[in-house]
Amino acid sequence: MPAVPAPAKVLVTGASGFLAAHVVKAFLSRGYTVLGTVRSPSKGDYLKRLYEPEFPGKFDYVVVKDIAEPGAFDEAVKDVDAVAHTASPVTFSGDTPAEEVIGPAVAGTVEILKSIRAHGPRVQRIVVTSSFAALLQPHDGPYEYSDKDWNDFSVNEARTNPAASGVHKYRASKVLAERALWDYIANEKPPFDAITVNPPFIYGPLIHEINSLDQLNLSSQLIWDRFAKELPESELATYTGNAIDVRDVADVHVDAIQKPELAGRRLVIGVGAVANQDFYDAAHEAGDLPNLPFPIPRGKPGAADAARPSFVQISPDSARLLGREGKFIGLPQMVKETLQSIVDRGLVTV
Ligand code: NAP
Repeated sequence: MPAVPAPAKVLVTGASGFLAAHVVKAFLSRGYTVLGTVRSPSKGDYLKRLYEPEFPGKFDYVVVKDIAEPGAFDEAVKDVDAVAHTASPVTFSGDTPAEEVIGPAVAGTVEILKSIRAHGPRVQRIVVTSSFAALLQPHDGPYEYSDKDWNDFSVNEARTNPAASGVHKYRASKVLAERALWDYIANEKPPFDAITVNPPFIYGPLIHEINSLDQLNLSSQLIWDRFAKELPESELATYTGNAIDVRDVADVHVDAIQKPELAGRRLVIGVGAVANQDFYDAAHEAGDLPNLPFPIPRGKPGAADAARPSFVQISPDSARLLGREGKFIGLPQMVKETLQSIVDRGLVTV
């Protein structure tokens, strides 16, 4: 018996985001009804139009302007059976003060937990979108990260180094938000359980509201930039992080709500470490590529091979636990469909 079986009602926070729009779709596809939180009615109306044809009457939204406001989710949790909390600031901007990233990430997590405890008597489980960033404590040489790892390095950087990079501030926000979750569960012993999903960079098609390239979410922007401007040879072997498709991350959020044995787990998932060259190789391997306003770069196939053994890896434990080992969408499809969707959404003129 699933932990929270369909048909049940799930609250998805930050429903207008790149990942969350797919999380909502995954829940709807697997028979759930979804209430999404959005920052404005126009974003909610866009989502209603998106889901209504395939899932009539199964999606609705509620406006939560700021996840960090005390009581932000008090109304939203009243009538739901499970929660997927994805909303969090996502930026690598070095100019943004650490507190503007960390503050809402942590407060948003604590607020949803407090609201569920006080006003969500039916909620049995929460899945929180954490990140591989929360694990990425630096190590010398090759290293395989698993659910045992915590990135205290970035927290220290964000707290003590006034010149900390935007990347460390973001990573710190994910560490501290996730710790706030587990601390709450351990200390408050609420009548619901929790799971985190810890994906690396997420790529894949865009279904959320987006009207121009400058509105791309961060990970889509990063992948697009690699194609829009061919990288110099000196950067082709550079490790860029690990990757996973947005549809797989969304499905894992549903698994997390369904599978009783996942309670208390950190689900660390990914298809592998990626160098810049790998994006170019993946695109050409996929073939049948969309027309873009520029030729798709080729780089220098094989350029990353010598550096590859030093790239960080993700333990297969979580994929195994989920029964999804070897089943995640690979980089060629991810890359091709990201590019295709940018064209299909009319974000570039070809
Ligand atoms: P996104 O498109 O920027 O989504 C973030 C969502 O959070 C948006 O819906 C945004 O609302 C909402 N949000 C942010 N701050 C808020 C606030 N103070 N009050 C209310 N809502 C707020 O980014 P994403 O890539 O989909 O990320 C979603 C989640 O996945 C985040 O928790 C992120 O850390 C995690 N994650 C992402 C990646 C990746 O590569 N994309 C990898 C690992 C983990 P608006 O739409 O109104 O801005």
